[in-house]
Amino acid sequence: MHPDIVQVSNVWQCDVKIDALKAEHEALNRAIKSGEAAVAAADAAAEAAQAALAAAKATERANTRELDSYTEKRTSTREMINTGTAPDYAAAERQLANVVARIDALENTGLELIDAVENAVEAAHQAERAKRRATEDLAAARAALLARDAPLRKELGDVLPLREAAWNELHPELRPQYFDQRRKKRKALVNVIEKACSACSTFVPPQVWLDTEAGREAHRCTGCGGWILP
Ligand SMILES: [Zn+2]
Repeated sequence: MHPDIVQVSNVWQCDVKIDALKAEHEALNRAIKSGEAAVAAADAAAEAAQAALAAAKATERANTRELDSYTEKRTSTREMINTGTAPDYAAAERQLANVVARIDALENTGLELIDAVENAVEAAHQAERAKRRATEDLAAARAALLARDAPLRKELGDVLPLREAAWNELHPELRPQYFDQRRKKRKALVNVIEKACSACSTFVPPQVWLDTEAGREAHRCTGCGGWILP
């Protein structure tokens, strides 16, 4: 292998390792961030469900109170009619009919409100369960970072000096080229597969491949700039 390729490869292997360690660390932190957002959303949803439940119960109570008062009115009106104490019998009959109709309506509404409260209770339970799950997920994400944080920092601490040493060994002419490759987030090393670059599929002329194989020259892919591995 051409010495240039060996030097580039030494730096590249360190950078791949560093990238992977940083990516893992970032992913763990992202999981915590999204876990926190999920907990906040679940909290808000649970609160809203509780408020909806309280409102449903209040509506049901109001309906029950109104029903109770009409039930009393029905009793007293019937009593007046039965005992003949109503000042106006026909008016009392009309009033009784109205009261009975209102009671029917309130009873029907009452049945609907019972369902509404039951649904609100179930929704509040579901929201609480979702909140618990989100809290558990967040705890797991925090535990995952805690478990990996020190090892990741240690591995990074081990590889950084190796990277520095490899960089110092890299020929000064190659450094800006390598840096540019990294800046463009491109691979520093590429393979040739069926006469084409493995990274960008650009055609690699046979002579380039023969030079590379023999270690005579270090070639870069004309498409992506990656150094061609033998
Ligand atoms: Zn390429």
